Amino acid sequence: MLRTVILAAARSSRCEQFVATAPYTRDIVRRFVAGARTDDALRVTRALVQDGLAVTLDNLGEDTVTPGQATAVRDEYLNLLELLAAAGLTPATEVSVKLSALGQTFDEQLAYDHARAICVAADTAGTMVTLDMEDHTTTDSTLDILLKLREDHPSTGAVLQAYLRRTESDCRQLAGAGSRVRLCKGAYREPESVAYQSAHDVDRSYVRCLNILMSGAGYPMLATHDPRLIAIGEDRARWFDRGPDRFEFQMLYGIRPEEQARLVGDGYTVRTYVPYGDQWYGYLMRRLAERPANLAFFARALMHQG
Ligand SMILES: Cc1cc2nc3c(=O)[nH]c(=O)nc-3n(C[C@H](O)[C@H](O)[C@H](O)COP(=O)(O)OP(=O)(O)OC[C@H]3O[C@@H](n4cnc5c(N)ncnc54)[C@H](O)[C@@H]3O)c2cc1C
Repeated sequence: MLRTVILAAARSSRCEQFVATAPYTRDIVRRFVAGARTDDALRVTRALVQDGLAVTLDNLGEDTVTPGQATAVRDEYLNLLELLAAAGLTPATEVSVKLSALGQTFDEQLAYDHARAICVAADTAGTMVTLDMEDHTTTDSTLDILLKLREDHPSTGAVLQAYLRRTESDCRQLAGAGSRVRLCKGAYREPESVAYQSAHDVDRSYVRCLNILMSGAGYPMLATHDPRLIAIGEDRARWFDRGPDRFEFQMLYGIRPEEQARLVGDGYTVRTYVPYGDQWYGYLMRRLAERPANLAFFARALMHQG
């Protein structure tokens, strides 16, 4: 119920205006987002890489509505990749891209062209791209674009969401040699017709999908903060004899940093997903929706400003 309300607020521009101007929300934003500028992304990335983490950078923005906005997002990624290479932060850092930010909702061909340009720039910078997955209405289009991109850029990563009923089958399709697949639970509000609704069913699906990916020939990227799923990931890594160059854990910036350090200390590859940019609202609301404790923190901050 609470999650539904927060995810609805994520789509409300009035709520966005309120949150964006409340002075005490700044600290909350900073916990989950590197900052508004490219420099902020580079600064946070440098510190994480020094701590032995790999990074994926996400320029925040989604549901772009004009070709001009989509081009600006593409250009930001091209600039970012150049700066990362110049700073010696590749290949430790790759980029995560949302196709909706590149125009997918109004022009799929444009989104593909922009994504391809980013893949070319990533090749030049000596790193890779992963396509984030958004709500279920975009899954087919995103996977179609992924397969087209992989013709010339086979390292392009996919994201599959364990809450979708279709995902076990998608995992089988994408578990082939060289295929980089990030497995996450899924962050959007989805109908029962397409998605498991209970946390238990989502977790069980995650384990089935994890088994398919870890026993396959691809490169699994286990994106979760869930202690039980991480333990299962560690177990399957031993079972399938996967060393740190054959799979990785992924977690979000600001969430369970001690666990990220613990896994690095134990010799695993761990990639932190670092969002940056001024369009942080939708991202922040999804993070709040995931955990009631975050919401209490947020509510306290808002009360202080009143
Ligand atoms: C690297 C990465 C990339 C992702 N990419 C996508 C994507 O492309 N598409 C998509 O739909 N989703 C994506 N997600 C989000 C994902 O789908 C989940 O919504 C999110 O990771 C929470 O699920 P969980 O597996 O951590 O399990 P949960 O059961 O939600 O959490 C397990 C534990 O982790 C901690 N935790 C989890 N979330 C939070 C939080 N917000 N604040 C504080 N503690 C928390 C808590 O201790 C919690 O008990 C991504 C997640 C990661 C880590």
